[in-house]
Amino acid sequence: MRAFIIFSIFIFDLCAKPIVSVSIPPQAYFLKQIAQDTLEINTLIPQGSDPHTFEFKPSTLSSLSKSKLYLTIGLEFEAIWIPKLKNHLPKTLSITQGIHFSSSQHDHHDHDHDHDHDHEAYDPHIWLSPKLVKILACNIASILIENFPEHKALYENNLALFLQKLDSLDHQITQILSPIKNRKFIVYHPSWSYYAKAYNLVQIPVEIEGKEPKAKELKTLITLAKKEGIKTIFAQNGFSQSSAKIIAKACGAEVLITDPLAYEWEKELLYITQGLAKWRK
Ligand SMILES: [Zn+2]
Repeated sequence: MRAFIIFSIFIFDLCAKPIVSVSIPPQAYFLKQIAQDTLEINTLIPQGSDPHTFEFKPSTLSSLSKSKLYLTIGLEFEAIWIPKLKNHLPKTLSITQGIHFSSSQHDHHDHDHDHDHDHEAYDPHIWLSPKLVKILACNIASILIENFPEHKALYENNLALFLQKLDSLDHQITQILSPIKNRKFIVYHPSWSYYAKAYNLVQIPVEIEGKEPKAKELKTLITLAKKEGIKTIFAQNGFSQSSAKIIAKACGAEVLITDPLAYEWEKELLYITQGLAKWRK
């Protein structure tokens, strides 16, 4: 009996898929495109929460501890929590930056001192630009191949398919946005700067340094929204929606709730793109 139990545990262990952790649901989506069912994917931050103020809970730590790999994305909590937790994490867990851009791929604007160069040291929302996701996907594939070489052919094949899908999504977004003349849009939390850059749009954030705007700043935004004829104000799941509602009410616009952390990443990008195109008709 005992031998049987030990044997069963051994078999179970052989059959269990390796767990790979990621920080946010869109990363899980990218990983799934490449890994399919060869891995179990664990997402640390749930959809609909604010990833900038996320804090590790005991459950986050325990799910991460079971993983073989953890792919980070460059969010603040990673830099804060990972060094603190180092001693509590198993030595077998390998933590890899899911992002590493070469200087030509990632536009740092080192010598750009114009007004839209924000004072934030780094904008982590890279996953909202299909062009940057292509780079992410290549990184994910090479990390997976390095760790699970037995699936190399599958991963390479899936990467090629996913890159094709990303190209066609990119093309589709460009097409949908092509009739829009006024390229400015108002959004509560500035998640969409890489998306805006990729499609020649200008993102105007409502939130100021992570805080609700003051009455005076709100007034300026309302004046601007009226002047630009803006009919949709973008708000975001997990963030305050009151300022967006005030602006929308003042200029007869609607509030569109976006979810940049949605697992259904492609759908979400098309949803915001349709929203942008709709208000400009
Ligand atoms: Zn954000």
